[in-house]
Amino acid sequence: MDFQNILAEQRDFFNTQKTKNLKFRKMYLEKLKEVLLKNEELLCDSIYKDFGKSKFDTYTTEISFVIKDIDYFLNNLKSLAKRKSVRTNLANQFGSSKIYSEPLGCTLVIGAWNYPLQLSLSPMVAALAAGNTCIVKPSEIAENCMKAMAKIINENFPKEYLFVAEGGVEETTEILKLKFDKIFFTGSPKVGKIIYEAAAKHLTPVVLELGGKSPAIVTSSANFEVAAKRIVWGKFLNAGQTCVAPDYILVDEKVKDSFLDSLKSYIQKFNYQADSKEYTQIINDRNFERLTKLIDQDKVFFGGETDAAKRFIEPTILQNVTWNDAVMQEEIFGPILPVLTFKNFNEALIQIAAQEKPLSAYLFTASSEEKENFVSKISFGGGCINDVVMHLSNDYLPFGGVGNSGIGNYHGKFGFDAFSHQKSILDRATWAEPDFKYPPYTDKKLNWIKKLL
Ligand code: NAD
Repeated sequence: MDFQNILAEQRDFFNTQKTKNLKFRKMYLEKLKEVLLKNEELLCDSIYKDFGKSKFDTYTTEISFVIKDIDYFLNNLKSLAKRKSVRTNLANQFGSSKIYSEPLGCTLVIGAWNYPLQLSLSPMVAALAAGNTCIVKPSEIAENCMKAMAKIINENFPKEYLFVAEGGVEETTEILKLKFDKIFFTGSPKVGKIIYEAAAKHLTPVVLELGGKSPAIVTSSANFEVAAKRIVWGKFLNAGQTCVAPDYILVDEKVKDSFLDSLKSYIQKFNYQADSKEYTQIINDRNFERLTKLIDQDKVFFGGETDAAKRFIEPTILQNVTWNDAVMQEEIFGPILPVLTFKNFNEALIQIAAQEKPLSAYLFTASSEEKENFVSKISFGGGCINDVVMHLSNDYLPFGGVGNSGIGNYHGKFGFDAFSHQKSILDRATWAEPDFKYPPYTDKKLNWIKKLL
């Protein structure tokens, strides 16, 4: 595929100024919505073929997510794109000052496989809403979904405006040699560094949506039933293959046993069986093997069963885990939940602060003081108090990592801003032209300037 040529066509198209027109943007967002809804079956089937994700999960965590984004931009585009008047300082009187949200130009979105539709199309929708052209490179690991997206989009949209590029590392490496105006990447910190390096060659700005080990802290004052139910749901959704899933639990040692029992009872209630519509497969053999090696059978409190033919790993809780265990050395990204304990809350925060900054963190407690300390003492991308995962469903919150878990953010207005340049314009009247800033400089002029500044 001649990516260079496609990008050249996109640049020519961007230069026609058509994408800056709000009616044009809305027309294509509406078309995208229509095309996605028309192809719901195809998309659900393709994701099911990739890793057995049920129609229920695909609709709630992928399709409806993108539709919600499209609706958000259809409803808010006018106010997001509106030039914003700001105050003008004394030195610049008489004049007006405005900020213009300007599309960056030609953008590239690279997606991950775990929510193959949402993680490619959601940033793409923000890029189009902000008035850019876009090339989307979904993950080749969810191959059927990648092919379905390419078919649906490339058959319905002009490639000089929007194009889905199929391919793996080789193709992505080729694409990354080209000069884009923004690269939006979702994936691992390891590949994020490759993207950042390639972008730096052209001084291209990036958003890097990466991963990490997201902790969930459970204190003795927590509502255990609610905590266990929400953690089990958030952890085993998509069989743990969720960037914001709680990676591990830190529980107050006084309440560990009763909390473990609550976790177990919800796993049993939620019917996570191989082939059940409540549970997803592990994406491929490589990840299946990686994950099974992380299960220390001596530490299994619940689960631990696997089936290689079905790429099934039972929801597994590990207890008596230490920071030195293999399962604590990497992001798990699968249905294994290590449980560690702490004696006092501050000690738990210190342990988290000693790790790379995670994408998310969660706290279950009834104590206002613990809530305050959790938010102010440790750094992480974002998170919830008394819930997991759900913060990313609120478009009024920016979603992104910090440090090792990413650069930049998106969702709602923040996605629009990620794909826009804030251009400052000072427009000055010509009828007033005080003399004091111009040479020749005099003491009198300096006194005036001192008064003004
Ligand atoms: P990955 O980094 O392996 O791949 C992501 C993308 O990069 C894919 O499109 C892939 O084709 C491409 N890629 C892979 N190797 C490359 C290379 N050498 N050169 C150029 N491109 C390359 O990530 P993944 O396995 O798809 O996803 C898992 C990771 O993504 C986890 O760390 C997870 O936490 C993270 N993630 C983060 C978010 C978020 O929103 N922050 C969401 C989902 C997943």
